[in-house]
Amino acid sequence: KRVDVPQSEHGIDVALVDERAIKVVKTLQDAGYEAYIVGGAVRDMLLGLRPKDFDVATNATPEQVKGLFRRAFIIGRRFRIVHVVYGRGREHEVIEVSTFRAYLDAMDAEQVAGNEKTSKKELADKSHVVDASGRVLRDNVWGPQDQDAARRDFTINAMYYDPSTGVVVDYHGGIKDAKKRLLRMIGVPDVRYREDPVRIIRVVRFAAKLGFEIEPKTREPLQAMAKLLANVPQSRLFDEMIKLLQTGHARASLDELRKQGLDRGVFPVLDAVFDSSRQHHPDRARFIDLALADTDRRVGEDKPVAPSFLLACLLWHDVLDQWKRNLAQGEHTFPALQQATDAVFDARIGDISGRGKLAADMREIWTMQPRFERRIGSAPLSLVEQPRFRAGFDFLRLRAQVGEVDAELADWWEGFSLGDHHERRHLMEVAR
Ligand code: ATP
Ligand code: MG
Repeated sequence: KRVDVPQSEHGIDVALVDERAIKVVKTLQDAGYEAYIVGGAVRDMLLGLRPKDFDVATNATPEQVKGLFRRAFIIGRRFRIVHVVYGRGREHEVIEVSTFRAYLDAMDAEQVAGNEKTSKKELADKSHVVDASGRVLRDNVWGPQDQDAARRDFTINAMYYDPSTGVVVDYHGGIKDAKKRLLRMIGVPDVRYREDPVRIIRVVRFAAKLGFEIEPKTREPLQAMAKLLANVPQSRLFDEMIKLLQTGHARASLDELRKQGLDRGVFPVLDAVFDSSRQHHPDRARFIDLALADTDRRVGEDKPVAPSFLLACLLWHDVLDQWKRNLAQGEHTFPALQQATDAVFDARIGDISGRGKLAADMREIWTMQPRFERRIGSAPLSLVEQPRFRAGFDFLRLRAQVGEVDAELADWWEGFSLGDHHERRHLMEVAR
């Protein structure tokens, strides 16, 4: 049931609305289409937060959208959307425009879960493909706005804001739930988790990020459903895990995972984290705590965070143990590290897209660590001139904080990296 809530009732501060998002909506409306700001941005504004990005939903098809903007790109295969791009370089901004989608109703999904044969044929007509556990694999059927709302995950994520009128369109009581600070799944939670098990992780992420409670019916199936995450492609799961760690509430997210009984067996990377905190390695646990706190602080200060840095921290002791074992067997430094990285990636991360680049970035941070111990000749100068020196140094700093290396070493490198020619000469003298 559609409810139109006027500005005077929801009280969204118009100063929070992005200029470019307004422009996209107006352009679409002027061309005769329906268009709204949708999803996370509406939720955040309603809570008085400044959204980090803006999504627009419309009844125009991707091709129609593309035709209205100078720089617009249709992207995605499984889920075709349009990126409208403004500005250039570091300052550029992307508004994501998606076409209202039809919702394959819960009955169909249930039926698929129970009876694969008949429903697959039926569903082919709707060009929906669903796997045996009810997971929706393809999702490009256009539909009316109410269906677009129904296929979204939580009530607070399914609101539409029209910047021209100030109205929020709310089909599922999102405004009420936002006031109550509740995460409530739209529809039958069980069915919705089966459709897309990643929602299990999303509920944890939003609970941690927003400090919301999970409504009991939404929470109840979580543990039983967790095993379905095994059906989700590794790459998607990995992306979701990275989001969980980069919300600015990494610590809270991990605590929430534990609270919901999802701390083990969901993400192999996080098994490494929870292992070290439970076993007999307080220093390792502290290292990870510092890395998480550091990431949360940076996100809070709007500084960029690289997944490679945090992952390099989370997997450091795994890799270090393996590296040492390989060295003990007579391997040379670099191949020993290379093999250690490969083994740890296989065990903890799996076969994800972009793995090669990620592993290379992490390896760079790790290989710098022994090089920090060499402070003679031309070694320091060439190290400091490495493009990724900063990441390697930040990593060294964390190690120093838990006593893995001397604080003096980290201080020395800080002085060296910041110093001019004379200060560097002096530091080289004292290091001798
Ligand atoms: P964030 O601030 O973390 O970006 P968000 O709500 O914008 O939060 P996105 O992943 O950017 O999250 O997704 C945008 C919107 O798309 C959501 O608000 C939700 O309505 C819908 N959505 C995203 N993922 C799913 C999903 N797995 N199932 C159902 N709806 C989803
Ligand atoms: Mg978003």
